[in-house]
Amino acid sequence: MSQATYEGIAMSEIDEDTLREYAENGLERPRDAMFRDDRCHTTHVPVVGWAEHGDDILEESNFLVAKGLIEGAAEDDEHVFEGSARHWLVGSLRQVWVQVYEEPAPPCASSDCERGAEFTAQLGETKGDDYCFEHIESGRESLAWDAAEEKQIELEDELIETDVDEDDFHEKWASIYKNKLALTREVPIERTFTAAFREAVSIAESLVDYPILDESDYSERENERFEENLAEALEWVQRDFVEDSDDEAEVISDLARDDLSELYGMEGNGDVSWGKVEEIYREHRDAYFEEKATEIRDELSRLGLLIKDDRPQAGPGQLELSA
Ligand SMILES: [Zn+2]
Repeated sequence: MSQATYEGIAMSEIDEDTLREYAENGLERPRDAMFRDDRCHTTHVPVVGWAEHGDDILEESNFLVAKGLIEGAAEDDEHVFEGSARHWLVGSLRQVWVQVYEEPAPPCASSDCERGAEFTAQLGETKGDDYCFEHIESGRESLAWDAAEEKQIELEDELIETDVDEDDFHEKWASIYKNKLALTREVPIERTFTAAFREAVSIAESLVDYPILDESDYSERENERFEENLAEALEWVQRDFVEDSDDEAEVISDLARDDLSELYGMEGNGDVSWGKVEEIYREHRDAYFEEKATEIRDELSRLGLLIKDDRPQAGPGQLELSA
């Protein structure tokens, strides 16, 4: 898939339900996480991350391409920021955070909660308070509780007038609470998703269909990594031939170039097999010195100097001359 095809996916409209689902998951704060930044999981959600010192080229490419696209889509600089976290396994983790909604959230009605509310809890047709994802259940319960409390006075009067006992009273109260709770429902607060968040979700959805965001960016990085690995492997192989001059080593590398290029893509992640590099290099080195020896022999015989025909085969880089 090319960049152009990806753009097609990015432009496609993601429906509101999908956006809400991503928002809900992203705004759920992981229990074991520590964040110094209070925007994390309150207004902003993590959308794409990359272990900077990991060596996965695809992750690197997708991270940087996604970051660029999201920043490009953002209508406000505040809507996107990059955070980093230390991770014991992968070292530094770069993470892009995106603001979900345009508008600031009303504060959650639950006591001591510092988060913004994403939902309003409704009791029947009566509008209730606003609650965050974490407190929506307790919000519904407290609404049902309040409604049952209101009925309590009525119940108490009934208790005096009629002859119901205490147990019946509690049972009635509990059934009012239960009925009221059944009437409660959570309704998302009307808010607008930011363009940056829409873009991030569309990127996430396109990654479900196809794992590469930008084919050309990815192959460029893979190629670059391959060249680095190849140069390293060649340097290692050439250590066996210290007697070769730098010029000779360069000429041999050039001659081997086409065959070495065919190793591209044989190993994943831009890797190259050092064994195969050595094999190819040795082959071209042998051929190079054989040809050089032939040239010298021809030159010598042109000059009238003779070489014994039954001499042992000269090794590469050496010539046995005889008068
Ligand atoms: Zn809350």
